Amino acid sequence: MRDRFEPMNRHALWKDVPSVDWNSWTWQQQNRVRTVEELEKLFVLSESERSAVAATLDEFRMAITPYYASLIDPMREDCPIRMQAVPVAKEMEVLPSEYVDPLGEDPRMPVPGLIHKYPDRALLYATHHCPVYCRHCTRKRIVSNPETAPPWSQLQAAFDYIRRTPEIRDVLVSGGDPLSLSDERLEAIFRELRSIPHVEILRLSTRNLVTLPQRVTPNLVRRLRPYLPIYVQTHFNHPRECTQEAYDAAALFADAGFVINNQMVLLKDLNDRVEIVQDLNFKLLQMRIQPYYIHHCDMAQGIGHFRTKIDDGIALLEKLRGWNSGLAIPHYVVDLSPGGGKVALVPNYVEHREGGQWTFRNYRGEKYHLEEPAEASRLTPVE
Ligand SMILES: *Cc1c(COP(=O)(O)O)cnc(C)c1O
Ligand code: SF4
Repeated sequence: MRDRFEPMNRHALWKDVPSVDWNSWTWQQQNRVRTVEELEKLFVLSESERSAVAATLDEFRMAITPYYASLIDPMREDCPIRMQAVPVAKEMEVLPSEYVDPLGEDPRMPVPGLIHKYPDRALLYATHHCPVYCRHCTRKRIVSNPETAPPWSQLQAAFDYIRRTPEIRDVLVSGGDPLSLSDERLEAIFRELRSIPHVEILRLSTRNLVTLPQRVTPNLVRRLRPYLPIYVQTHFNHPRECTQEAYDAAALFADAGFVINNQMVLLKDLNDRVEIVQDLNFKLLQMRIQPYYIHHCDMAQGIGHFRTKIDDGIALLEKLRGWNSGLAIPHYVVDLSPGGGKVALVPNYVEHREGGQWTFRNYRGEKYHLEEPAEASRLTPVE
């Protein structure tokens, strides 16, 4: 299967970098593109991009790994990789309906850096760093800002809270991107969490498979493996991100028994077409990554140029269900502002209903009638 995936083509700027450097994640981190001058060596910037890189430096800065930058089509401003990584002037436009904290996370932290919004699960803000700062990031109010870096004492307070809160059975290690931490620090976090008896599920939320696949090393995987089950949640948005390098990184996790799933964000003019979503999802399945969510672009400030209509998201889903393998169909979710949580939207297949008489339409638009027998059992009432 691996040979069905293309290796990324290095940008000419880095063609003489020795492979040991190129394949080293620390080299990739240290050589990230972070200024207008560096970016201009890669391709001709538009006026909008040139002004935005400087303007967003203090807000939500730019960083692009050489690996991810090499995926950019230098000739096209509408390249899906470029749109995710390079700021544009529209980022400075804030709409009245947008929020600084769209998911209402700040008020739902019982201790700093631990978001406990749903009854049985909690999300740990483990770092403010990411290899690439995605321009559509929902947490851009804190991500990339060194003032939000969680010290070890803060993480310990989060572990203590989880330890004394038996309802929590599922912990998401997130951020920022936790794979920005050292292997030692990551292992320490997972060891702590796994030592809590009522914690059953651990998740590692990372975009490194997409932005810095070199970070997934045999050593990292060996260190985390004792703490399985770990669900790796990643964030591929476009089939062009499914390279041989990404395939290899996913294979290291999958071979070691990690389960990987994907949370795509539906982004205007970037991946809002059924052919693109299909292509992405089937590539992911070949990489042993299960498509899990399509996120409707949320109400974070300055991402209006990425937002699609909810109707379009539902229409997209309608073109998937029935026509494609069920494995390739993620849930379409809207995360309600401010802090209502995720709701899943599905196309309405019920045409009419009266008592036990149902009329459905199937994925082809054909009508089917269903008469529920009176004997059909009701759910056993909860005592
Ligand atoms: C999305 C999210 C989760 C996990 O939700 P699932 O639907 O279980 O994947 C947990 N905590 C927070 C704060 C979230 O935003
Ligand atoms: S990797 Fe995740 S947390 Fe980091 S910038 Fe991208 S979306 Fe935000």
